[in-house]
Amino acid sequence: MERNGSERPGSAAPPYDVVVFDCDSTLSRIEGIEDLAREQAEEIRALTDRAMLGEVPLEEVYGRRLELIRPSRAALARVANRYEEEALPGAAHTVATLRELGKEVRVVSGGLLPCVRPFAARLGIDPELVFAVDAATAEDGSWQDFDRASPLARAGGKLDLLRSWGDLGSIALVGDGATDLEAAPACARFIAFTAVAARPAVVAGADAVCTGPGLDALLPLLLTPEELATLEPA
Ligand SMILES: [Mg+2]
Repeated sequence: MERNGSERPGSAAPPYDVVVFDCDSTLSRIEGIEDLAREQAEEIRALTDRAMLGEVPLEEVYGRRLELIRPSRAALARVANRYEEEALPGAAHTVATLRELGKEVRVVSGGLLPCVRPFAARLGIDPELVFAVDAATAEDGSWQDFDRASPLARAGGKLDLLRSWGDLGSIALVGDGATDLEAAPACARFIAFTAVAARPAVVAGADAVCTGPGLDALLPLLLTPEELATLEPA
């Protein structure tokens, strides 16, 4: 864990009212879309990497990936379970700790809502506070389409979504990708979480960096010394 030297305008030390987590490669080790794409995994991974490195805008790869995969309802449910199996150590404990201290915990993900929402709910996060890209399946369970109007399926969408919330108080955001870093201007602290994926451009732009290994390593960056002192030793 380390702090970056330069102070970003608008950045502020704890306390925070709201803590927002990315999902893929942050709350869970997997990238859900890659897990959906067993057959086309290499091609999908290359597309995801280019978007998360900021080389291509997310919207260029988002629809392309799903057209290749066309996941069934059963496949979406399987990924929800895979997110949980691959959850970072301390995920549920960290969420519970933040909530006990009166923080609102939200998830903002470019993943698919039918996968992300059940996983987040199992971590103790209010399903109403999980924001991801909705997707529709037909009555027989076959893929129909994703919500092409979702801001989370395009570059800059996380920033637009956070700004659309109005004044919730001060927000801390935790994530690993370029789309997370883009949302930093709406936040008092953007923490690059690098336990799963360390992306140099994201680390360089972050207010703080957390290398893990678990999500509880974030607590000293999310809480004041006074808040930390109220916690039971782990
Ligand atoms: Mg991510």
